Amino acid sequence: MKKILRFSAILTAHILILSLFASCSGGKTEYTDYTIYGMDTYITLRFAGKGQKEDYLDSVRDECARIIAKNEKLMSSHDEEAQIWGLNHDVDVILDAEPDLSAVLTSAVHLAEISDGAFSPTLGSLTELWNVSGGGPVPRSEEIEAASEHTDYRNISVDSGRISITDKECKIDLGGIAKGYTAQELLVYLNGTDISYGLVSMGGNIGVFGDKTGGNPFKVGICDPDNTSSVIGYLSIDDGFIAVSGDYERFFEEDGKKYHHIIDPETGYPAESGLRSVAVWSNNGGTADALSTALFVMGEERALEFYRESDVRFEAVMINDRHEIILTDGIKDGSFELSEDSYTLIGEAEGEDTVAG
Ligand code: ADP
Ligand code: MG
Repeated sequence: MKKILRFSAILTAHILILSLFASCSGGKTEYTDYTIYGMDTYITLRFAGKGQKEDYLDSVRDECARIIAKNEKLMSSHDEEAQIWGLNHDVDVILDAEPDLSAVLTSAVHLAEISDGAFSPTLGSLTELWNVSGGGPVPRSEEIEAASEHTDYRNISVDSGRISITDKECKIDLGGIAKGYTAQELLVYLNGTDISYGLVSMGGNIGVFGDKTGGNPFKVGICDPDNTSSVIGYLSIDDGFIAVSGDYERFFEEDGKKYHHIIDPETGYPAESGLRSVAVWSNNGGTADALSTALFVMGEERALEFYRESDVRFEAVMINDRHEIILTDGIKDGSFELSEDSYTLIGEAEGEDTVAG
């Protein structure tokens, strides 16, 4: 499993392509990669630095696998033994909620509040109806309207171990936050290990940990929404998480039209905000994951307004359907490097650059 690299290593992930482990001098960087399948996706753990025995790295990998399996069970909408299944099907209150479930729901509800419902953890009735992963078909508009009656996140309340749902037909779907929340938990654990530095990459969520040799930042490649094997540019980060939500990740086609998996809670249909992809950088994995979904739904204008007004610190790279790349203020300092000519990096909107709708 051990690999020795010269120059830049390109790891092809589901959404992001990374060139994180290039050594500045062009010398060798040693790392070990592990792949785990969980939460519906391939997860890469990359551990770098010298002097760690294989047995030790294997034991760290095992602990990561345990965390992933635990969270998959906890946050899945399909596991009949999970507390979420109970809440979604029979019961309207749980008094002994698993602490992690309370924690992820508390933060999901908070993110729903601050994003004015653009991110919503209670879209289960709609996401089941659309069945995007199962290939559709497009539901009838009456069905969409009926399901939309039961998607208000204010139906859930969480008070430490007590979780209640006031609307029996309201269903929790944590698909927009589960992976980022898990990436966060993995990084908290990995930061306490003896591994010098590395990353976790799971289905469009990347978390980096440790100090890279020589203080080089981690360079994370952002995919071209038109061609996911190509990178349109790189975002350099020292720490934290990057989550990407795009319309090209999961979709089905019907009558020549694409229907993707990010639902606009206001319409009940896949969001058509003019954005193709949004990458969010945050120091919290769950926040990055949920906000990438939220900003995608909002569209660039509302997203930039949210960025300026919100108390939450994050940065974003947004790609719209006119091949423009919009950066938030905190990464206009050169942190993002364009590498694809067919895209234009646009600066601060100056009056004429507004988006309809
Ligand atoms: P992925 O899961 O592919 O990484 P996202 O993080 O953008 O992509 O999450 C999309 C998933 O979140 C969907 O598959 C669905 O389960 C759920 N979801 C869809 N629309 C929303 C939304 N507006 N708010 C919260 N969750 C959503
Ligand atoms: Mg997300």
